[in-house]
Amino acid sequence: MSPVSEFIIISEFIIISEFIIISNFIIISEFIIISEFIIISNFIIISEFIMLRIIFLGTGGSLPTRNRNPSAVMVNREGELILFDCGEGTQQQMMRAKTGMMSLSSIFVSHFHADHFLGIPGLIQTMSFLGRKEPLTIYGPEGTGKFIELFKALGYFNLKYEIRGVELSPGDTVEGERYVVRALKTEHSIPSLGYALVENPRLGRFNREKAIELGVSPGPLFAKLQRGSPVEVDGRFVRPEEVMGIPRSGRTVVYTGDTRPCKAVLEASRDADLLIHDSSFADEMADWAEESMHSTAGEVAALAKEAGVRKLVLTHISSRYTDDVEPILKDSKKVFENVIVAEDLMELEIPYRPE
Ligand SMILES: [Zn+2]
Ligand SMILES: [Zn+2]
Repeated sequence: MSPVSEFIIISEFIIISEFIIISNFIIISEFIIISEFIIISNFIIISEFIMLRIIFLGTGGSLPTRNRNPSAVMVNREGELILFDCGEGTQQQMMRAKTGMMSLSSIFVSHFHADHFLGIPGLIQTMSFLGRKEPLTIYGPEGTGKFIELFKALGYFNLKYEIRGVELSPGDTVEGERYVVRALKTEHSIPSLGYALVENPRLGRFNREKAIELGVSPGPLFAKLQRGSPVEVDGRFVRPEEVMGIPRSGRTVVYTGDTRPCKAVLEASRDADLLIHDSSFADEMADWAEESMHSTAGEVAALAKEAGVRKLVLTHISSRYTDDVEPILKDSKKVFENVIVAEDLMELEIPYRPE
């Protein structure tokens, strides 16, 4: 093992000169253990840190304003891009936010009001021009299949990749890479869904000292234990549960689309890391919020409080608050402190919870 003086320390990474770092994967010929990363001889790597970033591309209500685009929220999870809604102009917001678009794997549409889907035809055509080959899946409530066919037939162009439309019902789940997206029953004026992105539990913490104490040599055997296999040392088997802590929870992000405060969102948001909720109006507009099937800041704050969410972001902000969102923020803060009003191009990193 090289002495520490040969290491270069860059934030959470420790790099030895001959290492190559590709994203969070560290390839190395020696072994070393660094905070969240466990790296074991000859190409290994058990990376426990997965980036989860939320980019608010469109935070306006039904009417766009000069500084708020219609609805679109992007999740960047370790380079995989997922869109929740795709209002008009989303592709240009992606350019402004420098998110890239070719890594977009799927779009989850909350409902087919124009402010939530009009960006799709333009975006799919641009990706075709740019030479996309990978399929794109668009999920949504009943009627999704019909709309996808319309998008594909809109204008004269040859789509060079496959677009799949998948209709979801409340409770359905879509499997991703160590996460699922669950469809939630929301309450709006037309068929609608909210979505909860729920990460799988993470591995428990690896007790390196204990493993050494039990006679396991650092190296490939560490990796084997981490993958859940027992290893043999001097005729005795060391089991993973002897050296691994209890699994740690993954992160949960809930996106509602347009809705009244409702039970499915409350349940999905229990202990969630982030709730992104329709908050079209301040409480002064409670009657109209009810009639138009949207939510007020105070109503959403009460739901967030009851659910025990860690952070609340209010979005789908009505054009009547173009110059001042203070009424929305004030009504929410009265009930729930950890809240912000979304702004276009705002980005949030969702950290793991402290242990
Ligand atoms: Zn809307
Ligand atoms: Zn709507």
